[in-house]
This record gives sequence, C-alpha cells and structure tokens, in this order.
Amino acid sequence: MKKILLSILSLCTLSAIGQSDNITTQLYDTYENYKESSIGKRRIKRTDIQPLIDKLATNDKFKVNTAGTSIGGRDLSLISIGTGDTNVFLWSQMHGNEPTATQAIFDILNFFDSADFKKEKEAILANLTVHFLPMLNPDGAELYQRRNLLGIDINRDALRLQSPESQTLKRVRDSLNADFGFNLHDQSTYYNAERTDKPATISYLAPAYNYEKDINETRGNAMKIIVFMNDILQKYAPGQVGRYNDDFEPRAFGDNIQKWGTSTILIESGGFPEDIEKQEIRKLNYTSILSAIYTIAQKSYESINIEEYEKIPENDRKLFDLKIVGANYELLGNTYTIDLGMNQIEVDYPDHNSFWYSSRILDQGDLSTYYGYETLDATGYTITQAKVYPKTLNTFSEVENLNFNDLLKQGYGYIRLSKFPAKHINSPFPVHLIGAKYIIPELNLMPGINPTFFLEKDGVIEYAVINGFLVDLKKSDIQVPNGMIFR
Ligand SMILES: [Zn+2]
Repeated sequence: MKKILLSILSLCTLSAIGQSDNITTQLYDTYENYKESSIGKRRIKRTDIQPLIDKLATNDKFKVNTAGTSIGGRDLSLISIGTGDTNVFLWSQMHGNEPTATQAIFDILNFFDSADFKKEKEAILANLTVHFLPMLNPDGAELYQRRNLLGIDINRDALRLQSPESQTLKRVRDSLNADFGFNLHDQSTYYNAERTDKPATISYLAPAYNYEKDINETRGNAMKIIVFMNDILQKYAPGQVGRYNDDFEPRAFGDNIQKWGTSTILIESGGFPEDIEKQEIRKLNYTSILSAIYTIAQKSYESINIEEYEKIPENDRKLFDLKIVGANYELLGNTYTIDLGMNQIEVDYPDHNSFWYSSRILDQGDLSTYYGYETLDATGYTITQAKVYPKTLNTFSEVENLNFNDLLKQGYGYIRLSKFPAKHINSPFPVHLIGAKYIIPELNLMPGINPTFFLEKDGVIEYAVINGFLVDLKKSDIQVPNGMIFR
C-alpha cells in the first residue's frame, strides 16, 4: 500500500517537472544568445560588472538601486524586474573567489532584456518580482579571496552584522521579505557525489533553521525547488549533483534567512571535467535557476514530493586532479605499491587577474576509495627521480629551443640556468628551472611535495609527471601549463 502511494507521489513530482522540461531544453539550447561575453573567466572584478549595471540602469525594464557599499567603498547594486507579488531574491559571491553565479546572473538579466520567450517571461514577470544582488563581496573579488577586507567570512556574520556587506544583505532581505532566496556560491572542485567518481558539479542545500533540522513550509518549499533543479541537472550532468550536510550553523546567512521566512536554496558550483573557467557550470546555473524561477511563477513546484530531496547523493570530498594507481616505489632497497593523489593548485599572479600552478601531492598509500579527474593505472611501472639536464643554459630562449619530449624521455625534469630575469616567478616550460647552485633533493614521496617524477617500465620512461601534470610520452603534445622555479 505504502509503495503504491509513493509511486503516485513520485508521478506528481514527475508531472510537475515534465511541464517545464521543454522550456528547460530551449533555455539550454539557446544559451549562447544571452551569455554575457564580457565576463568569461573566473577572476572578475567590480569594474567588470559596472558597465553592465550602468546599462541596466538606463533600461526601463529594470530598477537599479545602490543597496549598500563594501568596506572598500565599492557599490552593492540591487537590480529588480517584474511586477508580481511574490519576491524572489538572488545574491551571489559573498565569497570573493566564487564568481560563477555572478556571471550566470548577468546571462539571466540578458535573457530578461531580450524579446524572446515572450509567453514564459510574461508569466514570470506578472507573478514575480525578481531581485538580483550580484557580487556581494566586491573587495574579496578584487583580491580573488573568500573573505572581505575585514578578514571575516561574511557567511558567519549573519548575527553580529559587523560588515556593511552583511548589513546590506540583511536589510535587503528584510525589506523585500522575499518568498524565495537563492544563495549562490562556488565550492571546491574536489567534491564528488558520494561513493562515485563524479564531481559534484552543483551541490544543493535547503539549510536548516534550527538544530533539530525541522522541515516547515518555508524549508519544505526550498527542498521542492532543489528536487526540481536536480532533475534538470541530471539531464546535462548525470550523477554530478551533491547534497550538503544540513547541520544547523547559527551564524550563517542561509540558515538565518530560512529562519526569517524566506525559502532559501543554497547552490554551490563545483567542478566539471576540463572546464577550468567553469563556463559550462555557469550555463547549468543559468538553465536551472531560470527554470526554477519559472516553476515558482507557475507554482508548479508545489506538488513535488520532498522525499526526493533526501535521495540526492551527499557531497563528499574524494577527488584529486590526478590519481596514479598501483605504481612501484623503491625505498631503502625494498619495493612498495603506492597510489598517489595530487592536486594542481592555483596561485594568483599579483594582479589577481590570472594564475599559475604550484601542485602538491595531497595523499599517498591505498587511495582506492578516492577518485581522479584524470587517473592512470600505473601497475607495473616504477617511479623514478627526475634528473637535472647536464648542460647549464644561460637564457630562456636557449631553454625554449630544447625538444622537451626528447628531454623528458631521457628522464630530465630540471634545467639549470646561470641566471634568471627577475620578472619570472614560474617556468613557462614543461620542466622546472633551477638556479646555478640549487641542489635538487632526492625523491622522497610525501604529501606536501611538488609531484615531479617519471614512470618507467622495462627500462623505458613512458610517462612524466611534472608539477602534478601527467605527460604521456608516446604522444607528441605536452600539456603542462607551467613548471616551477627553484632558485
Ligand atoms: Zn561560498
């Protein structure tokens, strides 16, 4: 009996989702028409979005207000559209290095400004008023860092309200008394959907509003919207959705905004294979958030069964950028079998507009419960130390003229230079550069070191790992964005 009831309930869920299926497909397929092309990489600043906001301010369709100012004196803008009684409030980038949804918001604004999707837009704008507060932490964005200039995490300031950014968020929420809130973040790319090798491309949470994790109508509605969006994402990123732990955090905004009566949906943009600048994830944000806005306008989410929420796999953090499995490692006369997990870690250039990589071994041993964006089965291969090229070179252009594939095949991972131009902080080559007196340490695999070694089988070097990037030496292309400089 219970089984029959459940299947009827899930049918209701399916029909609510089915109604919007068409529009979702169309939104995804026509995305390029609305993509705001001026902000195409993660390191965006307030000055990058200012011209977009200025343009919206001259457009009758939108209301643009300065809702507050950051500690560093940068404006916090609120952009509103629609005439409906239901208020939907979206805010992004309260953590400065989490820009994916900020970009998606400007795509959504372009969509609202266009002449297309007339029927759907009329339904949205008659029933809803939609408010956007993109880049809540512009000072953090300037430095591409999580925290604001006070050095605090705005998401732990919902009670004390010391930061003007927090005060602005609270004031806007209260003045709108929004029915729905979208709390838009990025998460580490190393999250995966529990017990799978799938990255958590998007993770959701309907935050708890008390320690008991009760579900009232406010939180229940957030869960329904999440079930709706999860169903959309399964089509474009199957298995790549995670659900955050819902332990109550009394200082966080999501938890408090839920408590204050706004159905709050936390969206975290994670990783997607070969999407370094997260532009595919941005598109998934655009498609799923716009579809959610449409379902809120039509109230079609109401029949969704919240039990489906608990079925979304939990978020786990078991991904590496590169995982090497089952290699032989010789130490003090014995041979051991070892897995290696390593991450390609970004380091910003001083202007925070771009970055380079300084990779690290994160873990080693039996890593059979972990996964990699890239995985190499190294069974039968032996890890060998990278050597220093015997000839000392004088200039970068001398290095440039080397045949790196040949060099790596011979086991050379380091080039000695007699002197360095001061401006270089990393090696633009797929090898490391070392100073005249630098002595490379003996290879001693350990979490924390830069992953640089070769994999050899029957006396032949077949793979190189340079700065945590795998090179298959049977192929001619070498995809190592940069090496290190050790002076
Ligand atoms: Zn965040």
